[in-house]
Amino acid sequence: MDIFFCLPILFGCDGKVKQEGDGTAYVCPRCHNASVVTCKSRKVFSVCFIPLIPMKAKHIYQCGICQWAVDQDSSYKPQRAGAPPGGGQMMGGGYPPQGQGGYGGGYPNK
Ligand SMILES: [Zn+2]
Repeated sequence: MDIFFCLPILFGCDGKVKQEGDGTAYVCPRCHNASVVTCKSRKVFSVCFIPLIPMKAKHIYQCGICQWAVDQDSSYKPQRAGAPPGGGQMMGGGYPPQGQGGYGGGYPNK
């Protein structure tokens, strides 16, 4: 009687993408959401889901919504979110002026 084990050996490359950077968001050219962030994509050669050989890490831009991604080494760079195209400078007075009043007079001054 032949007894043989049929072990499915699964191997391949596990791609792990980890967000990095300061959380600066970029505008996705595909879905136009400001959900592109800088990520580190690392591929690990794994056997039976056990990561064995870490491969070279790559720095990419990746959209969290439509999974669009581009290499950070490529010449294409997504546009930074929050920067108005053509405008450059933000409108003045983004913050309310501090000084008087403070929190709306929570404490009675005597
Ligand atoms: Zn997208």
